[in-house]
Amino acid sequence: MSHANIAVFVPHMGCPQQCSFCNQRVISGAAAQPTAADVDAACERAKKGVSPGDTVQLAFFGGSFTAIERAKMLELLTAAKRHVDSGFLNGGVRISTRPDAINDEILSLLRANGVRAVELGAQSMDDRVLRLNQRGHTAQDVVGASKLISAYGFELGLQMMTGLYGSTDEDCLETARRLIALHPAAARIYPTVVLRGTRLAELYEKGEYEPPTLDEAVPLCSELLRLFEENGVRVIRLGLHAQEDVERQMVAGAYHPALRELCQGEIYYRKAVELLKEKPAGAYRLVVSPAAVSQAVGQKKKNLLRLAQQGYRCRVQGDESLHTPYELRIKEL
Ligand code: SF4
Repeated sequence: MSHANIAVFVPHMGCPQQCSFCNQRVISGAAAQPTAADVDAACERAKKGVSPGDTVQLAFFGGSFTAIERAKMLELLTAAKRHVDSGFLNGGVRISTRPDAINDEILSLLRANGVRAVELGAQSMDDRVLRLNQRGHTAQDVVGASKLISAYGFELGLQMMTGLYGSTDEDCLETARRLIALHPAAARIYPTVVLRGTRLAELYEKGEYEPPTLDEAVPLCSELLRLFEENGVRVIRLGLHAQEDVERQMVAGAYHPALRELCQGEIYYRKAVELLKEKPAGAYRLVVSPAAVSQAVGQKKKNLLRLAQQGYRCRVQGDESLHTPYELRIKEL
């Protein structure tokens, strides 16, 4: 049994403005606005790859779903609901929207139409950063909308960004703490990627903004990943999906197709440094769960090389008795 996601992109639909970093036509790889027929076609295509017992969920992503013109939103929702009612979308519908486009009436409508999970693009909990990045909503909007979404019984998802114009690592960590306090079931973390055709690209070209590089983003994102996970929040995405369009259109920023793995590797590296710092230089075994061996080694053996520079020659060994995420034991070789 597995979880199948059917993504229907609604690029920029419903957005009252353009956020500084956003060029959804690039991010979603779709420029046309979907119709009910597209929802049906996506479900029909997905049926071929689904096995009995799988959980199947359809997600409307890429715009401000609840701010879409009402007739269009209902067209899409009604189409999806037919597949919920038929039993195919047994995981219901997931939508993503803006924090200032949530109210009682909208949530009642979503609930009546098979929506189970609502994700908010919070991006930052610092009003100054939100303003500088033309988000058009406040941190308080995130708090109010999140509470209402949870009160209606939806699964709450919260999305945040790092490296936005005017933001610091500390305010990103504070954003994560404030999001965790809203008890989301899931979170997404997106380091800023500067895409052509955005306000950030203009600022970058004028020399007024420099996004964090990949090497700068990984330590912060690994810290955020750990923070969310330790507080019981599933991080369902870290970094933009690998797509040729993004790679073609990015001007600068922290993009890597396997960003999550890089961050997981960084968590193991930091743990190893912490445990080894009391020990003399020498040869050690880093013992982790078998599934985590490559993360502990790091991409291109990055972790082992960094440890060797500090005098610790390490080998990584998988051990079936270790199951907890990021569990690491040190043994002498
Ligand atoms: S609200 Fe979301 S989809 Fe719309 S412009 Fe901003 S980031 Fe892009």
